[in-house]
Amino acid sequence: MLSASLNDEQMQSIITDLQVLIRQPSISATCQGLKECATLLSKIMANAGIKSELLRLNVEDQIDNVTINPVPPVVFGEVRSKSNPQSKTLLFYNHYDVQPVDPIEKWNEDPFSGKVIGNQIFGRGSADDKGELITRLKAVEFFLKETGDVPCNIKFLIEGEEEIGSPNLGKYIQKFKDKLQTDLVIWESGYVDKDGRAIVSLGQKGILNTEIKVHGPSRDIHSSLAVAIPNPAWKLIELLSALYDSKRGDILIGGWCEDVIPIKEKELQLLADEPFNEEAFKKEYGFANFIDNQDSYEVKKALAIEPTCNISGLISGYTNSGIKTILPATATAKMDFRLVPNMNPQKQFEKLVSFIRSLGYSQEQVSIKYLSGEPAYKTPIDNPYVKMVVESASKIFNGIILNISSPGTGPMYLFKEILNVDSICIGSTILPNKLHSPNEYAELDLLNKGTKCFIEIIKNFTSVKKNQI
Ligand SMILES: [Zn+2]
Repeated sequence: MLSASLNDEQMQSIITDLQVLIRQPSISATCQGLKECATLLSKIMANAGIKSELLRLNVEDQIDNVTINPVPPVVFGEVRSKSNPQSKTLLFYNHYDVQPVDPIEKWNEDPFSGKVIGNQIFGRGSADDKGELITRLKAVEFFLKETGDVPCNIKFLIEGEEEIGSPNLGKYIQKFKDKLQTDLVIWESGYVDKDGRAIVSLGQKGILNTEIKVHGPSRDIHSSLAVAIPNPAWKLIELLSALYDSKRGDILIGGWCEDVIPIKEKELQLLADEPFNEEAFKKEYGFANFIDNQDSYEVKKALAIEPTCNISGLISGYTNSGIKTILPATATAKMDFRLVPNMNPQKQFEKLVSFIRSLGYSQEQVSIKYLSGEPAYKTPIDNPYVKMVVESASKIFNGIILNISSPGTGPMYLFKEILNVDSICIGSTILPNKLHSPNEYAELDLLNKGTKCFIEIIKNFTSVKKNQI
């Protein structure tokens, strides 16, 4: 059976291949090096014994107003079990694109160097998501090299547009639905806290992005006219105050939460058990009190299962230095609403619009735009693969924290909607970290543990029997 620890040669091959990937820039925001990275990746996969191919969309399949044309390929990989070809399938979802490197002057090293200093490997993508990806590829490679086989069927779906919101992932999954059939998705990343405990997360919130614009006079006008002409900025402030009670943290939009399914007792218990360091959290984000003085349990609950009503930007009037006495022509708020399972972004948008109209704001006075939206998804905690992943990871990490949903958003719902499959997040990214920031890094000992954890998951995957599912 496969040895429980990685030898020096195996660890070196993790570092070498990760460096090869980091050194190939692949920035989806600027379309830099995507095709090259996909090609490089399929070579690394071939060396690992994973059969790979580049999947593509036809031009007519691509979404309207695509930001990247042609859409970068999805790298698909597959290893079929020789000894157990009828076994269930495990699919790893990852991405090969990275965030831009700006501000470049804040990097201590070349962002594409892959330089190793002590326990850290630096570079854009070292953690998000090339570091996470390499642990999965290496787990399969080491399995194949040591045993000549894998005990279950394994697939990889590695996309190139995650960092710009996965605009074509749904199209890809739909088009290659048969090829992508699987019994479980292991999500692209997962966190490890500073005590070395792995956070196994089961869900992601959804999101609705909107823009609310109040129209005033036909142009910016002299502010002396404020005695007689209504200012759209004041109107916007009134309107926004009617949507949300910022003292109590309550969303006031009529019927906003009526579709939300009540949380299960077991989930509440998990939330209660989840560790939360209130002081460290406050220190990290630089504030003194939670909204409505919530206690730790209420904050954990809010982060995992409550919708939000957030102003992400306000635009009106003169905002440069000094004075300019005007009454602005318009006032705009950019708003994002995090959604929880069973809230449909389009339906929530209609609720928002009808609530604003019910307050007496006409279409001429206030325009409301739907910018984008995606629903939430949460894997049920009694999905038997959850237990298997938790047990496998417990053997490797210094403990496990089971989290029912991350406060962030991602395309997990697509896998449920199109392939009817659940997803579990587990990985090797340290908390806090520098994802999307200068000096991004991954920790070598966690890459080591992450690889061992996936070896363990592959080993135990078939222990989950059909009748348990
Ligand atoms: Zn990212």
